[in-house]
Amino acid sequence: MAQALAQRTVWHLNSTARGGGVADLLEKAIGLHNESGLRARWLVLAGDAEFFAVTKRLHHRLHGSPDPVGPLGAAERETYETTTSRQAREVLERVAPGDLCVLHDPQTLGLAPHLVAAGLDVAWRCHIGTGAHSAVVRDTWTFLEPYLRAPARCVFSAERYAPPGLLRQQGKVVVLRPSIDPAARKNRPMTPAAVHDRLRAIGLQAGPGRPAAAGTARIVQDRPLPEDAPLVLQVSRWDPLKDMAGVLRGFAGHVAPVRDDVHLVLAGPDPDDIPDDPEGARILHELRGAWEALDGPVRSRVHLVSLSLLDADANADSVNALQRRADVVVQKSLREGFGLTVTEAMWKGKAIVASAVGGITDQIRDGYEGTLVRDPHDLPAFGRALLRLLAESDLRERYGTAAHRRCTKEFLIYREFMDYCSLYTGLLQETPAATHS
Ligand code: UDP
Repeated sequence: MAQALAQRTVWHLNSTARGGGVADLLEKAIGLHNESGLRARWLVLAGDAEFFAVTKRLHHRLHGSPDPVGPLGAAERETYETTTSRQAREVLERVAPGDLCVLHDPQTLGLAPHLVAAGLDVAWRCHIGTGAHSAVVRDTWTFLEPYLRAPARCVFSAERYAPPGLLRQQGKVVVLRPSIDPAARKNRPMTPAAVHDRLRAIGLQAGPGRPAAAGTARIVQDRPLPEDAPLVLQVSRWDPLKDMAGVLRGFAGHVAPVRDDVHLVLAGPDPDDIPDDPEGARILHELRGAWEALDGPVRSRVHLVSLSLLDADANADSVNALQRRADVVVQKSLREGFGLTVTEAMWKGKAIVASAVGGITDQIRDGYEGTLVRDPHDLPAFGRALLRLLAESDLRERYGTAAHRRCTKEFLIYREFMDYCSLYTGLLQETPAATHS
């Protein structure tokens, strides 16, 4: 691949350096590209609050969520195009004709026509989507249609996410499933002592060891998590579609009344650290209100953890430790593009209870690698699934082993890297050799 690319650089562009799956994927993928002899670079494009308000609406809409603000019109297009054309000018100052560009998510798609016009080979990778192409999804694709024409390839995590119009274009849609890096700090092995130390360092767990380090996390809890308490965990951005509030309600209403020893940790990034996700602070604030309203005995078993992203290594260690400490990992999303938190838990051999939505169903088969709850709003079913797994250690073990095996086979970064190489080969074949000389 390095020979085929010759002097060309592969650029990956997105809109945040941290927070969320795409930033995590890119950091690892760019590293592996360069270690393998390709020349890859990662550009993060800045935008203002107005731009990210529009792109967050695009994000929710492509997941099929109703848009309370209303239809997308001329004002949204102007905001979107003003920012993406400015970004394109900035990008073109850095790249050379013939370079390859992979744009990630709707935030960057608007750059595609500008970059293609300047002689770059462009692919767009969309990390979100739904297989249910409702009116709101179709309208959003219509809004994006002028930009979708430009990239030679549009990449989705599952074929069913692609708009039907693109699927009709021979060779335009590529399926590329995300992955995790088993050697990354977030996934590397940790001893139980290291897990304990880390959870103590962020102030979640009590017990012997160093005191909590300032600035690593903000925790809302009555008391620290006891060292031996069974633990249910969800790690996610504070996004309505991740349904942290639903996890809290399901736990309080259907698990806590039956098991008085189990604790729940809801952990996510400090909202102040993610510029392209304007909703985080509000969701966390609402969750705090719901936590305050819980009965004392239940409240003392629920912990809200916001992890600082300013130190990426510390964040990775904290997520790793939390996932390893958990007895059951939950991902109760209402929609999910792929769900790297699920992949991470699979790698760690954890028993998982997740909603049967989006990319989660591409990773877990109900009853094999974990339990899937068919209706993400069905809190009693969610509670029953948790109680069963908490009670049956053999089943946890069986799911965990199967999940680790599947993750090893299908969801590691080496497989994704080979898929990227196929994508680049396809892009090079699209363009006449003369433009690359
Ligand atoms: N993550 C993190 N710190 C947090 C919360 C999440 O590093 O406080 C990471 C998580 O480990 C995963 C990614 O963010 O790697 C979330 O990816 P996913 O695909 O699950 O969801 P997305 O945020 O992309 O919708």
